[in-house]
Amino acid sequence: MAGIRVTIWNEHRHEQTDAKVQAVYPDGIHAPIAKYLSDLGHEVHVSTLDDDDCGLTPEVLDNTDVLIWWGHTAHNLVMDDIVDRIQARVLAGMGFIALHSSHESKPFMRLMGTSCGLLWRDIGEKEKLWVTNPYHPISKGIDAVIELDHEEMYGECFDVPNPDDVVFTSWFEGGNVFRSGCTWHRGRGKIFYFRPGHEAYPTYYNKEILHVIANAVEWAKFDGNTEAAGIGKAANMPFLLAPVEKNE
Ligand code: ZN
Repeated sequence: MAGIRVTIWNEHRHEQTDAKVQAVYPDGIHAPIAKYLSDLGHEVHVSTLDDDDCGLTPEVLDNTDVLIWWGHTAHNLVMDDIVDRIQARVLAGMGFIALHSSHESKPFMRLMGTSCGLLWRDIGEKEKLWVTNPYHPISKGIDAVIELDHEEMYGECFDVPNPDDVVFTSWFEGGNVFRSGCTWHRGRGKIFYFRPGHEAYPTYYNKEILHVIANAVEWAKFDGNTEAAGIGKAANMPFLLAPVEKNE
């Protein structure tokens, strides 16, 4: 398998300001994900909010097959022209994977077009992510359920457009449920939202969670037919402009 060009974008704020998060992710929340994907042979690049242009220059995005996003406290510091750039790349075929609190990141909200709001509660309750689509490539190799001893709760209603597929549905100790693994298409691009990954818990060291992210990277890489006429090309096709003969 040829390596997929993956850019992991991490806001990288909690790790610098919160000792508890620093202890869990001393090299950043992105680090265990980057290591896992690199070990699989993917070409992994990491960008953060502190980099010029958020590390998402046109050149970086043009050389990205799949963009993974983790953000929480600084969504608004991502400039709108970068969001424009990301949206254009997704419509042109770049995959986009939004993790955990990235439900309210600017790129995800732009791609969804809704508030992306949800219920939440952080008391470290148990989460069970049930596989609700065992036939989807993203759940390949995962047993019936992934159990996390401690996570932040996200609960329905999740204000997103109806997903193409709901690959995982979470149960929480406190009684809430949540569509934790959802897919959408926008233009040529594939989008996956994956819920787990609160900064204070070691979720991204969990091998099953990493396995799901790796599956999602492979799924999200564009593999469609760029030769087929798409939106904006139909006007170039003369037969569509010819008058239609009517049967009298
Ligand atoms: Zn969180």
